[in-house]
Amino acid sequence: MSRESKRRKQLVEYCRKLHSKGYVPGVDGNISMRLDEKSFLITPSGVSKEVVKPRELVRISMSGDVMDEGKRPSIETNMHLAAFNHSDANAVIHVHSSNAVAFALARVNIDTRYTPAAYYHLGLVGYVPYYASGSELLHSEVTALIKKKYKVVLLESHGALVMGADMQDAFAKTDLLETYAGMLMKADSLGGAVRLTDEQLDEIHGG
Ligand SMILES: [Zn+2]
Repeated sequence: MSRESKRRKQLVEYCRKLHSKGYVPGVDGNISMRLDEKSFLITPSGVSKEVVKPRELVRISMSGDVMDEGKRPSIETNMHLAAFNHSDANAVIHVHSSNAVAFALARVNIDTRYTPAAYYHLGLVGYVPYYASGSELLHSEVTALIKKKYKVVLLESHGALVMGADMQDAFAKTDLLETYAGMLMKADSLGGAVRLTDEQLDEIHGG
């Protein structure tokens, strides 16, 4: 099996995982993976991640051109392109998962400074005001945050964008973000979570 075939298969495996977790309902969300220095693969527009096939993934050049003739990539391809061009990410996951989106709908950022795990693995979350999907303004706002080294970006009234060193890493971060957002909401019903102090945050080194 060629390197490209392997990557296509792996990307589809993660589409299934994200769908089974409920993070990409309907035909929502998009997932991409760097293929080589000059191109990446992304999910097609309008196809559920439950049924998308390896051959339906779309290869895109690092200048944004569709390399698989006749295929229609996600309309949110620009955000992925920004991640590959302006960070060392090798995989990018964009989800409409319910807990993270609840924050985005309430227009409240997800503050990761409440648990060591969230702070260490996700870093601080970037926040982008609402712009239409696929718009130039959304693209430029997301690009600015990626250049500032954010690995997780919350898109107001929309969803979340997560960058990883590889697909496993991007998935783990997405899963953590979603679970963590749910924990914060539960803590709210108990009077609210208590943020770690700056000194406590400075001591965090994984684990
Ligand atoms: Zn979206």
